Formats: sequence, structure tokens, C-alpha cells
Amino acid sequence: MDDWDRVAAMIVLGIETSCDETAAAIVRDDREILANVVYSQLDEHRAFGGVVPEIAARAHLDILDGVVREVLAQAELAPTDLHGIAATGGPGLIGGVIVGTMTAKALAAAAEIPYIAVNHLEAHALTARLTDDVAFPYLLLLVSGGHCQLLSVEGVGHYTMLGATVDDAVGEAFDKCAKMMGLGFPGGPAIEAAATKGDARRFDFPRPMKGRLGCDFSFSGLKTAIRQAILKSDGESLSDTDAADIAASFQGAVAETIADRCANAIQQFSEDHPDGNTLVVAGGVAANTVLREKLASLCALTGFRFIAPPHALCTDNGAMIAWAGIERLRIGLTDDMDFAPRPRWPLEELRA
Ligand code: AMP
Ligand code: MG
Repeated sequence: MDDWDRVAAMIVLGIETSCDETAAAIVRDDREILANVVYSQLDEHRAFGGVVPEIAARAHLDILDGVVREVLAQAELAPTDLHGIAATGGPGLIGGVIVGTMTAKALAAAAEIPYIAVNHLEAHALTARLTDDVAFPYLLLLVSGGHCQLLSVEGVGHYTMLGATVDDAVGEAFDKCAKMMGLGFPGGPAIEAAATKGDARRFDFPRPMKGRLGCDFSFSGLKTAIRQAILKSDGESLSDTDAADIAASFQGAVAETIADRCANAIQQFSEDHPDGNTLVVAGGVAANTVLREKLASLCALTGFRFIAPPHALCTDNGAMIAWAGIERLRIGLTDDMDFAPRPRWPLEELRA
């Protein structure tokens, strides 16, 4: 019996606490999600128009043990039935990451099973292998509230950055524009909803970086253009029509810009990896339908396969952490109890 057979029925608990979702899940290595609970702290943060780190950390502390108990009950498992416990070890808001890390370490120590510190970005990157049959290497577009990157995913722990934002993350741009427009928080879903009734051609917003070499992104100029459009529209608050048109035009500009950057990335990735032909999108902004459609047509044009995991697995969740734990455990990568939570943890540093 080789190592692979021995661990064939691996079951891992994953804990996610890096931002404003308190989440846990139990996943089996045949890609079955046995239990998956996400508690969103949106109501705690809404009044502040964004995530407040101190409030997030306290909320994780209050509810994480209950969320873990709930997934264990749903899966009808005890901690000793598990083969490992994985938790986001960073990057993220450090208070929350500490809560998740300490909980995972304590449970793993008590059950005498391995502890795995998961890089949150790696978990997003590997989600497509939980939901679909995707082999390495593949091209990854990671678009979330804190990140906007294009990476080639060559294996567990092996990532090469092709490009990243030089200013704001794309989710941040959605959130800030929604705030300026009085659409509430989080901005992405609010802008997408407003845009359904809008005319995407009314405002000719800039497509930052479009047509330039390379795979970097920029969103600050677009944000400024939105502010100017809001100021120009008369009255104190935006009319519904103006808001819808601005939202639709903004969303269109974002999607077009991202597709342009992805076209360059596909070209570069194909030169580096002639055996790869898949584009995967991950992160909260991957929920956006207009963006998905743009990327799907780009892939159709370039002969790439397009994989977008279901919305619930694109936004922060415990299943992706458990899955990343399984991918690591399979190849013998576990962590010591002295692992220190990391507020910053670039994917490329995993290679070491
Ligand atoms: P994450 O950082 O992965 O938790 O994702 C959260 C980010 O995704 C926030 O900035 C949201 O505004 C953004 N987001 C969520 N849903 C959508 C959507 N439908 N369209 C655009 N952005 C979205
Ligand atoms: Mg989140």
C-alpha cells in the first residue's frame, strides 16, 4: 500500500476567520463537502460602511466554537474522526487569524491529529480542484476585497505571479464606488443589482491599463472618474437612473479592463506552460455575472477552458480551507504548533 492509498479517505476540518466571515467546513478527499457553515458578520459591520478589525476579531471569538460544533454535528463526526485540522494562517486581519489559528491548534492537539496552517490565497487558488477536475498547471485570476492578481498555479505551494494591482483591489473599488453612490456595503452585489437596470454605454469611463503590455491592474483612476460623474449629476442624491447607469458603466469598464489583462496573461501563460489551457477565477468578485461572461467569451476565443466555482465557494468559506488542508496533507505538508499567524503572506513565499 503506498502513501496515497493509506490516506485515501482523508477527512479534514477547515476554519476561516481572516476577514468578516466566521466559517468552518468538513471536507473529504473525494471532494465531498460533508458540512459547511458560513456565519457572515455583515450586520456587525454595516453601520461602519466597512469591516472593523476589532469588531471582527471579537465576533470570531464569540461564535467560532459554535460554528465548529455545528459542522461536527452536521457531519456526525468527532474531532478524533478527522485526519487533520486546517485554519487560515494569513494573510488577513490579524485578530481573526489568531482566533482561528489558536482554535485549530487546540483542537488538533487535543485530538492528536496534524495541524495545517493554510494560506488564504492558496485556498482560493485551489478551490477549482475541489469543485472541478482541474490539473496543474492553470492560470488563476484572483479578484477579491483585498487582492487582484494573475498567477500561474503550478502545484501546491508553487505559484508564479504574472501581474497584480498597482493600487486598489478590484473588490475595494466596487466597495468604494458603492459607498460614494450611497448603495451600501458590501458594494459588489449592490452595484451588480443596481446595474441590471442601467445603461452601460451612458458613461465612457476609463479602462485603466487596457492595451498596455503585461498583466498589472489599476483601479484608482476609474474610482476618480466615478466620483466626478457623481458630482456632475445634479441634486444632492443620485437619481435611480443615474445610479443605475453609473453602476452599469463602472461594472462594464471593470470587466473589460480585467478581460484585457487576462488576455495578456493567457498569452504569457501559454508560452510558459504549453500543457496548460485553463483559466480559473476565484475570490468574492468572481461572483459578478458580467465579469464571468466576459471571461467566458475570452476563453472561448483563445481555446481556454473557463472554470468559475459556485458563488458560495468564491467568497470566503471553510470548505476551501479544508480542501487546501487536504491538498497539503496528501503531500505530507503539515505545520508545527509554533506557527505564527501572518497578516501578510504573499503566495510566492510558499515555495520556500
Ligand atoms: P472576499 O474578499 O473574497 O471575501 O470578497 C469580498 C469582495 O467581493 C467585496 O469587495 C465585495 O464587494 C466583492 N463582491 C462580492 N460579490 C460581488 C459581485 N457580485 N460583483 C462584484 N463584486 C462582488
Ligand atoms: Mg469576505
